[in-house]
Amino acid sequence: MKIHNYSAGPCILPQEVFEEASQSVLNFNNSGLSILEMSHRSKEFVAVMDEAIALVKEVLNIPENYDVVFLQGGASLGFSIAAFNYLNTHASYINTGTWSTKAIKEAKRLGDVDVVASSESQNFNFIPKEYEVNNNTDYLHFTSNNTIFGTQFKSFPKTSAPLICDMSSDIFSRKVNIEDFSMIYAGAQKNLGPAGATLYIVKKGSLGKTNNNIPVMLDLAPQIEKESMYNTPPVFSIYVSMLTLRWLKKNGGISWIEKRNQEKANLIYSEIDRNSLFTGSAAIEDRSNMNACFLLTNEALKEDFDKMWNDAKISGIKGHRSVGGYRASMYNALPTSSVQVLVDVMKELERTKG
Ligand SMILES: *Cc1c(COP(=O)(O)O)cnc(C)c1O
Repeated sequence: MKIHNYSAGPCILPQEVFEEASQSVLNFNNSGLSILEMSHRSKEFVAVMDEAIALVKEVLNIPENYDVVFLQGGASLGFSIAAFNYLNTHASYINTGTWSTKAIKEAKRLGDVDVVASSESQNFNFIPKEYEVNNNTDYLHFTSNNTIFGTQFKSFPKTSAPLICDMSSDIFSRKVNIEDFSMIYAGAQKNLGPAGATLYIVKKGSLGKTNNNIPVMLDLAPQIEKESMYNTPPVFSIYVSMLTLRWLKKNGGISWIEKRNQEKANLIYSEIDRNSLFTGSAAIEDRSNMNACFLLTNEALKEDFDKMWNDAKISGIKGHRSVGGYRASMYNALPTSSVQVLVDVMKELERTKG
């Protein structure tokens, strides 16, 4: 029986994607070669790259005036790439958690950074909504979904400053107006594919405005010019991302997945609120549809609860050490039926131990 996989990342991907990917490791498209042993410059792999980029653009409804590239280094290198490519004199950041904090640290190496709002004093359990951004700032950076603390921007900052966003843990989960952004980046391993590739969506004309001496691997312009092939790209991660995007498109795209993600979130949060043995750790209006963080109201029940969800073949719901408790990560590929299994275990704990 399949495990109900709540891992925060790397995480669940569609079963049919795993099946097709494993077949392609043995024999890609009847070529007699594994996807892992062919040149990234072969026409077979160039077709994979082209389809992956075309699907990103189609599924996210990306306007013509944006470029899409797949690079390496994870979102953590994205923190540096954002700063190198966009920070000339002054940047603004909203600090909503561990990843924003790390992004701020990298930007500070290159220039003046203004943290315009932060929820750190309340252990990042909410999204700040009131702040002012300096008119002359190069950009405003934020993290759309805070994977560790389970909060999510439900609407994006309204500002005249160029917007840069780390969307690693909720890209492809909901509708986004791409035109609001100068640059979006996201590691693949939450909603897109296996670890190794990082997606960058870059507004044309937004680059080239800094005096930074950018190392070539961090410089978006040559990466765009070489169409993600400046050097060897993470071929397997891009290939499996392409398969995941095919799956998403075939099932109805963003409007389908957004609805399903909302259903899953409603299911778990209504149980957290109904069940007297549990409490949510994030402010209700800012709760993430991707990562639901919750605590037991009575720590003495920990052993019972942990045994019950283990027995139900649930995996990966232990909370991050900075929050404690539990975190149910419900990325795109997690079926609603898996959330129902967790909710049933929560109800059973209440019935037997409440
Ligand atoms: C996971 C995550 C990261 C870090 O990604 P890496 O690929 O490990 O560098 C950064 N930001 C967010 C929002 C994340 O969820």
